[in-house]
Amino acid sequence: MGWRWTRPARGDGWVRFKRTDFETLMDSPMFAGRHFKRYDLDTSGKSPVRLNVVADRPELLAATDEQIEKHRELVRQADRLYGARHFDRYEFLLALTERMGGIGLEHHRSSENGTVPGYFTEWSKNAPARNLLPHEYNHSWDGKFRRPAELWTPNYNVPMRGNLLWVYEGQDQYWGYVLGVRSGLVTKQQTLDALAMTAATYSTGRPGREWRSVEDTGHDPTIAGRRPIPWTTWQRSEDYYSEGQLVWLDADTLIREKTGGRKSLDDFARAFFGINDGSWTPVTYTFEDVVAGLNKVVPHDWSGFLTKRLREVAPEPPLDGITRGGYRLIYTETPTEFWKDNEASRKMVDLTYSVGMTLNREATITGVLWNGPAFKAGLTNSDKIIAVNGIAYDTERFKEAITAAKAGQPISLIVKDGDHYRTVAIDYRGGLRYPRLERIEGAPDRLSAIYAPSK
Ligand SMILES: [Zn+2]
Repeated sequence: MGWRWTRPARGDGWVRFKRTDFETLMDSPMFAGRHFKRYDLDTSGKSPVRLNVVADRPELLAATDEQIEKHRELVRQADRLYGARHFDRYEFLLALTERMGGIGLEHHRSSENGTVPGYFTEWSKNAPARNLLPHEYNHSWDGKFRRPAELWTPNYNVPMRGNLLWVYEGQDQYWGYVLGVRSGLVTKQQTLDALAMTAATYSTGRPGREWRSVEDTGHDPTIAGRRPIPWTTWQRSEDYYSEGQLVWLDADTLIREKTGGRKSLDDFARAFFGINDGSWTPVTYTFEDVVAGLNKVVPHDWSGFLTKRLREVAPEPPLDGITRGGYRLIYTETPTEFWKDNEASRKMVDLTYSVGMTLNREATITGVLWNGPAFKAGLTNSDKIIAVNGIAYDTERFKEAITAAKAGQPISLIVKDGDHYRTVAIDYRGGLRYPRLERIEGAPDRLSAIYAPSK
């Protein structure tokens, strides 16, 4: 929904909304802000799509024409992908504020989006924040209009059951990134760099893949209720999003390979999500419907494909889509620009692929890779690093010590845990390591084909 979904009457200091049904009301949130600006994003004349922005300060609302044009291109690219809309109007509610906390919540004809105040004004630093709108907008097709059968309920008194979330969120995650780059909101290089991070997570950063299937993580919203969990890398949390994304890349590149580039996951998306143009009555689906939809694009053992990768414990790293896409995952001593932007926006230091930990800006450990070097040294969440090799902690100094350790010098830390201090030696010789994708020379560049805008 959105902003003034039913036109309010004004004049006496009150704002009155027209009477509506309970379902529409529940699905129609409102953002209110002192500083507000609205941008029209639809250029087709089919139905209004609006970007409604509220911000902490008026100057934060000042988007450039070029920035707004990329948001318009998002709307056009989604039209070209699906060939249908399931709303009579769509309202992006976008809050540029540090007071609300981040949010991305899909509704049928609107989405609630809360992100960095400098979304427009510090555009060059905020590529990681620009996946938000493509992801939430895509949910109007994948999630709200077409819905897993058990996630559909006749009314709000009936609880939803987690089901096929690797389509609802996993394929949405896939299209969110694809629409982001097709619209120009992010560059191809930024998208490749983001994909490298995801690939690294599910090849070496998720030991929990040894015991738990992707589909089983679909129960996390019920079990964990989105509370933070202490050992993410081992427990896994809601991995149906990003591991699901890698599986859909695998499927897309497989379709392209099998059809010599004539068909792609776009064909599945259009036939599966692009039905009933103009209707927003949800159409539910089952596992068998997804399999049938894929088989209509190209015959394959899609049931076996999806079962193996998503429903069973599948410890093999899910990197086939990247390889078939013409790239390989490598690690280098310097991070990508996208990695640096991500660290900066999340105010963290990410050393997952070297010593196996993440820290906040205050040098407190926020995550430890299960069975990684820091784990083996006995470090855990909330330990605070006081000193590195006998000198007060400093992020750059810590990184220098990790590099120096390649030559054999140990990394010695003084760590504080509550009132207790201890000395910890990390036995690690691999130097700094950051993931990135490297082109496989001579292989078809299918990722570039996927990321190219639809004409
Ligand atoms: Zn989502």
